[in-house]
Amino acid sequence: RAAAAPPYVASLNPEQRAAVEALDGPVLVLAGAGTGKTRVLTTRLAHLLSSGRAKPWGVLAVTFTNKASREMRERVEKLLGPGGGGLPWLGTFHSISARMLRTHAELVGLKNNFTILDPDDQIRLMKQIIDAEGIDEKRWPGRQLAGLIDSWKNRALTPEKVPKNEAFAFADGAGVKLYAIYQARLRILNACDFGDLLMHMIDVFQRHPDVLQTYHRKISHMMVDEYQDTNVAQYLWLRLLAQASKNLCVVGDDDQSIYGWRGAEVDNILRFEHDFPGAKVVRLERNYRSTGHILATASHLIANNRGRLGKTLFTDDEDGNRVKVRGVWDGEAEARLIADDIEQWRQGNRSYAECAVLVRAAWQMRAFEERFLMLRIPYKVIGGPRFFERAEVRDVHAYLRLIRSEDDDLAFERIVNQPKRGVGEGTVQKLHAHAGKPPVRFVTDNGPLFDEDTGEVVTEQAEAPGGATRFRTLIGAAREMTITDELPLKARTALRSFLSDLDRWREKSREISHVELAEIVLDESGYTEMLRNDKSPQAQTRLENLKELVQSMGQYDTLEAYLEHVALVLDIEAESDGENVQLSTLHAAKGLEFPLVFLPGWEEEVFPSKRSVDENGDKGLEEERRLAYVGITRARESARISFAANRQIYGRWQVVLPSRFIDELPAANVDAVSETGYGMQAPGVRDMAVEPFSSGYQSPGWRRAQERGAFKGKPPVIDGEARLVARSGDGDAHYRRGDRIFHQKFGYGQVRMVDGNKLTVDFDKAGEKRVIDSFVVPASA
Ligand code: ATP
Ligand code: MG
Repeated sequence: RAAAAPPYVASLNPEQRAAVEALDGPVLVLAGAGTGKTRVLTTRLAHLLSSGRAKPWGVLAVTFTNKASREMRERVEKLLGPGGGGLPWLGTFHSISARMLRTHAELVGLKNNFTILDPDDQIRLMKQIIDAEGIDEKRWPGRQLAGLIDSWKNRALTPEKVPKNEAFAFADGAGVKLYAIYQARLRILNACDFGDLLMHMIDVFQRHPDVLQTYHRKISHMMVDEYQDTNVAQYLWLRLLAQASKNLCVVGDDDQSIYGWRGAEVDNILRFEHDFPGAKVVRLERNYRSTGHILATASHLIANNRGRLGKTLFTDDEDGNRVKVRGVWDGEAEARLIADDIEQWRQGNRSYAECAVLVRAAWQMRAFEERFLMLRIPYKVIGGPRFFERAEVRDVHAYLRLIRSEDDDLAFERIVNQPKRGVGEGTVQKLHAHAGKPPVRFVTDNGPLFDEDTGEVVTEQAEAPGGATRFRTLIGAAREMTITDELPLKARTALRSFLSDLDRWREKSREISHVELAEIVLDESGYTEMLRNDKSPQAQTRLENLKELVQSMGQYDTLEAYLEHVALVLDIEAESDGENVQLSTLHAAKGLEFPLVFLPGWEEEVFPSKRSVDENGDKGLEEERRLAYVGITRARESARISFAANRQIYGRWQVVLPSRFIDELPAANVDAVSETGYGMQAPGVRDMAVEPFSSGYQSPGWRRAQERGAFKGKPPVIDGEARLVARSGDGDAHYRRGDRIFHQKFGYGQVRMVDGNKLTVDFDKAGEKRVIDSFVVPASA
């Protein structure tokens, strides 16, 4: 029998093979980390297609990362040859749903060129609505409303369906009304948010049985990875699509359920057997990923959770290295230690890309990024929203979105005067008023108004009084107002030429590629020129980013595909490539594996996160522990946990305690290592005697980086090695209290306070001022 098996199943163990070969009926694979669940799905897809049991377009496979879906796609292409008869529906819930919604947009009141708002746009819109309703946005922030609405959408609750007792969660009962207004506004803007992608499709399936039937006829088999993290909306979506064929195969691990805070329900796993009676349940117990000590450590830790289905895991691999646990003086020392380890790994002829640093919260990345930049260690942030969140990148996207859809007022607002073309804030307000909408003043990404010439922060709050009805798009309003005399002549002329530019680009976009379109827009809008005329190092970085952007667009066939991709990576994207150290949150690392994994910041309140425990008690704590389990099980050869004795949290120094998770690790599989030279003289883990970091110390990684000439004869000015004072010309310099800076107009000064991108600076001549950080450059002391 084995001899007749196709080659791709030959390497599987019997249980894996059973899951691959069970093509009919519901299948649930419930198994621990690294047991080959994802591999089973990929192989199953190959088997479905090569055995002819399904057509490519008849398979729908939901993966958690784009990387996994790419891998599946590659396999299919290998099997069928490129373009071999269409492609399966491969992607995340969001991306597959977005693709479906493009076909049925009109059924939910959208046009098929609708825009997918990213979280930043979403919050901006919320703020406008809250203001327009006369609610105090300071007390009831847009971000909070966005969170509430998301949680309703995760449960597939439209405004009409929100339970009465939940209506009071925001602004004394206004939440549901604001939700309804928000949905109405989205329709006018021809836009939707992430949650809508699924909710609209559920709505379509429920109200249009004929549409659902066409999918039933088309899709014969469905598969879902990371099933433990599906939420109610995703579950409904799946069940609607699978109810005809019942050929649904899901794989998951209850111990890795880490999206409870986003509405994921582990119960979906338990409910599966109930909703799909006769489901074949497969358990996998052999772990192929990690060595013995790593697996034992993870298993021991997760055994502290009570709410588990319980599983055994074993490996035939050797014991390998014990898990290292190390204490250091502070966050900077931790970054030095880890960077040094990475340098050493590299010296041993291993690759940077094999190393991953997995943090609990994004803010923890800063110390590592700075250290990596300093040692010239190439790194990449997994889930990299950073690039796509950069102002210049978002500007280009706004142009492209506007060319695609005139309704996109948010895009219009963003770039109508970027580069400056004489359409000031006053004009935009008049357009708003004319559009029948309350005037909103031009705000920066983070909200505050600032002086466009100096970056001085003027006021924290944008104003937008009264009234909420809106009758035209801003472009529509602009068209009308350029032929009346309500606007000053200069603004009128400027608007007119901007509108004719847009029209021309839209016309062109029908004949040329989106890459050419982007180039033309950058050129003809004066955007590139604006940056060229700006002699600051930031402008240089921005130009480079734009180059990178235009170049990367070529990977997508159409503008639609590209913008869709952008909207979706802003949500989640995990992938690795090239020779880069991988920096990631634990959440975004799910499903991935690396030979060497660093798990820094294992301190009480950081991990387990204070917020999670405060808000959700034991349930929150157990979810944090699952996150720790996910972290450890990413490692193949070596896992290194660390904690600091001191931590600067929100700008304040605090003495912190090692995480309780450290106490829960099995002594037999763990080495507690003292790291002298990183501020810790302690023999053990718990009884640490800390000693201040001595500024004369040169870490081995630092020396090695120097040796391989990383600084090209120009060492950065450093202070006690811990702090980078002179920075490379990156526009994203992170300023800290005490830094010397230079401002074009206000001259030299010293940073007194940092609040996001706003700096309070004591200028030598001009006195104290608050400025946006992109308006200053670091000055060497
Ligand atoms: P996670 O729960 O972390 O998502 P998983 O169960 O999806 O893990 P995979 O990522 O599919 O596990 O597999 C883990 C590793 O084990 C991969 O490197 C995979 O190639 C390897 N592997 C899985 N099954 C086998 C097998 N039968 N023979 C050899 N290697 C295998
Ligand atoms: Mg997996």
